[in-house]
Amino acid sequence: MKGFAMLKIGEVGWIEKDRPKCGPRDAIVRPTALAPCTSDVHTVWEGAIGDRHNMILGHEAVGIVDEVGSEVKDFKPGDRVIVPAITPDWDSEACQRGFPSQTGGACGGWKYSNFKDGVFGEYFHVNLADNNLAILPEGMSQEAAVMIVDMLSTGFMGAENAAIELGATVAVLGIGAVGLSAIAGAKLKGAGRIFAVGTRPISVEVAKQYGATDIVSYKDGDTADQILEKTNGEGVDAVVVAGGHSEILLDAFKMAKAGSKIANINYFGKGQGEKDTVPIPRVDWGFGMADKDLITGLCPGGRTRMERLADLVTYERVDPTLMVTHTFKGFDKIEEALLLMREKPRDLIKPVVLLE
Ligand code: NAD
Ligand code: ZN
Repeated sequence: MKGFAMLKIGEVGWIEKDRPKCGPRDAIVRPTALAPCTSDVHTVWEGAIGDRHNMILGHEAVGIVDEVGSEVKDFKPGDRVIVPAITPDWDSEACQRGFPSQTGGACGGWKYSNFKDGVFGEYFHVNLADNNLAILPEGMSQEAAVMIVDMLSTGFMGAENAAIELGATVAVLGIGAVGLSAIAGAKLKGAGRIFAVGTRPISVEVAKQYGATDIVSYKDGDTADQILEKTNGEGVDAVVVAGGHSEILLDAFKMAKAGSKIANINYFGKGQGEKDTVPIPRVDWGFGMADKDLITGLCPGGRTRMERLADLVTYERVDPTLMVTHTFKGFDKIEEALLLMREKPRDLIKPVVLLE
């Protein structure tokens, strides 16, 4: 079968591979809609997770079940499914402790385009199908569904990890699709005031539609100073970090109040002179004693998460299609969509490739 792959750091291309094999609890899925992720860009062009050779890229897909293993109970060939970007080993020790995304080591629930071939192939493998697939609800568009698997799940995790209380003031740093989803999540969690920090006009528009009350441009001066000024020097109750380089944590700690949660959902790559450490500002962190907590997390995956997010879409709590700015038709367009994601033109939030 054909797949679009990372050949080595900095290089992508089409390759031929064997169709993946289906274990007794697994499924083989044929994609019908795909989306490239900024994480694919970090992986290929920054070598952020190390070198990978001829590994099929992609972890955002919806599709049709082509084959199931003998022990799979709830899915059969022909079912239309949502496939989470993160597919944990649900019987692992990390899952039993409540951290399914971290199975088998840091970020180990992230298998596609990390430890095994991703979803940008004619077929791809799903481990533990009964736990890691969800039925695509009747009437849900593919564009909406493919935004659930990583963007909504990650952005909403940011809002959840930031422990937003009713009426809280929140800042979301970075308003690509992940940050925008965090804004939608913050509103659903009951935030009062929501600062959206970003510049792309198309993102600013969607940020307002998702519930941002204030727009701050990090290009107009120090972000934290601007937010401190707008909050009479008080700062914010919660911060979601969803973009930028590692120095963005300096902004986050500076604007965070005592008792705040700083939820990082950003992927710190190794581009543009980044180091292997990330900075936390000593003074703004109260010399390590300021009651400002930094919380990290990888996108939650699995069936229940997908079903719940699908309900938020079905019952019109959020419309993820507002983030889909570019739609391509045909498997061959994956390359163009990924390169667009790398280039990030001003009118782009997220491209989707429809295969049928
Ligand atoms: P994006 O590049 O579309 O959006 C991030 C935005 O932040 C960009 O527009 C960028 O210009 C902007 N930015 C840069 N510096 C900034 C600053 N100082 N202040 C505010 N904004 C600034 O990316 P995305 O697709 O929305 O993804 C965001 C991040 O989340 C990426 O690093 C991605 O790899 C990561 N990610 C993490 C997970 C996870 O599981 N935790 C999942 C998916 C994506
Ligand atoms: Zn992703």
